[in-house]
Amino acid sequence: MTAPVDPVDPARGAGGRLELERVSASYGPYRALFEVSFSVPAGTALAVVGANGAGKSTVARVVSGLVPSTSGTVRFDGIDITRRPAFEIARMGLNHLTEGRSVFASLTVEENLALPFRRALGRQGVAGALEQAYEAFPKLGDRRTQSAGTLSGGEQRMLALARVLVLHQKLLVVDELSFGLAPVIVDEVYQALSRVLSGGTSLLLIEQHVHRALELADAVVVLSKGTVVYDGPVEGVEHQLSELVLGPEAP
Ligand code: ATP
Repeated sequence: MTAPVDPVDPARGAGGRLELERVSASYGPYRALFEVSFSVPAGTALAVVGANGAGKSTVARVVSGLVPSTSGTVRFDGIDITRRPAFEIARMGLNHLTEGRSVFASLTVEENLALPFRRALGRQGVAGALEQAYEAFPKLGDRRTQSAGTLSGGEQRMLALARVLVLHQKLLVVDELSFGLAPVIVDEVYQALSRVLSGGTSLLLIEQHVHRALELADAVVVLSKGTVVYDGPVEGVEHQLSELVLGPEAP
């Protein structure tokens, strides 16, 4: 008998709290973020939206340690993670999923799941964790011996999310996870994200389908040219979103 995949957690309080305080970042001489501050309370979802080039992916990379900040502080559950390497941040339960880069293409579906399960839970925990993953995503069970690189784009996202769901990450940074997917598959991805959230994982959501992200999010940050121009509840921002994202000349 294994634990249920979706533990009911009405408090959604098991997730990690993320705080950015006046974070700046550059690519060589190009400054991409200017003193960005916001927080993601534990167990909640924050959508980060903005026009192309606004700095959304840079925020995601700084949070997960892939791009160093030039100044400012990033805290995870109160711990300063600003200068920590990405692997250490991942070990703290902060996971970063991006479109197309979150599975090992040459490994099978089962190997993609079994490796992180074994690392996190030990050999004894693998069978139960696999069972939970396949229960949550039956299509993955049907394809357990298939190379992950030959899965469809939607199935690859499910595989990445299955790991997160079963291992109960504290915070998940999701960067354009639904990029290039058919609407019906985007629905599936969002159902899975919703389960990850109700399982207690906090979410930092970067999404080109802004309205999808806002349906799931508790709060929203709008970025423009590397600065925060709105930080607040989703309610009330939707009607001005095109202006906030695209600028005052937007239709
Ligand atoms: P999009 O929605 O188009 O993905 P974004 O809001 O995620 O955009 P970022 O990818 O964070 O924006 O990019 C912010 C700025 O930094 C852009 O002007 C981009 O050209 C620049 N930039 C991003 N990555 C690099 C890099 N590796 N080298 C140099 N400049 C970069």
